[in-house]
Amino acid sequence: MPIYEYQCNCGLRFEKKVTAPKRQEPQKCVCGDTATWVMPKGVSISFKPKTEGMGPQNTGVSSWDHNADRVIGEDARKNWATAGERSKQKQDLLRSSPGKTGNDLARNLDGTYRIMGEKERQTSDAATSARQLHYDISRRIKDKTGVDI
Ligand SMILES: [Zn+2]
Repeated sequence: MPIYEYQCNCGLRFEKKVTAPKRQEPQKCVCGDTATWVMPKGVSISFKPKTEGMGPQNTGVSSWDHNADRVIGEDARKNWATAGERSKQKQDLLRSSPGKTGNDLARNLDGTYRIMGEKERQTSDAATSARQLHYDISRRIKDKTGVDI
């Protein structure tokens, strides 16, 4: 299974093995909130130059480097703005839904959130448990055999 990166509103960014078709589904963070998929760099902005290590590659052309910094900065700003909007929407939704927690939230296809009904919540919890179980078993098999399944 491929590894994808997720960003939580609590600030934690973590990697998780997820099947490709499910990579855009929110993942549970250790804080109890849900974290959203971080689109890999270079996918969203095709004209961004290749980066090496932590920062943009020094191309030796200052205007090009400046432009790379600007694009990367803009990308980061957009990501944070989106995270902020989502966080606010989630908080508003939870405020108007007494007794509900972040675990009751699900993300709609358009990026907005909804409070899950009882049945959906049960299905979601079961899916979370199944994913966790699969992850635990995969890890144990890998520890014992070295085989990555
Ligand atoms: Zn978190």
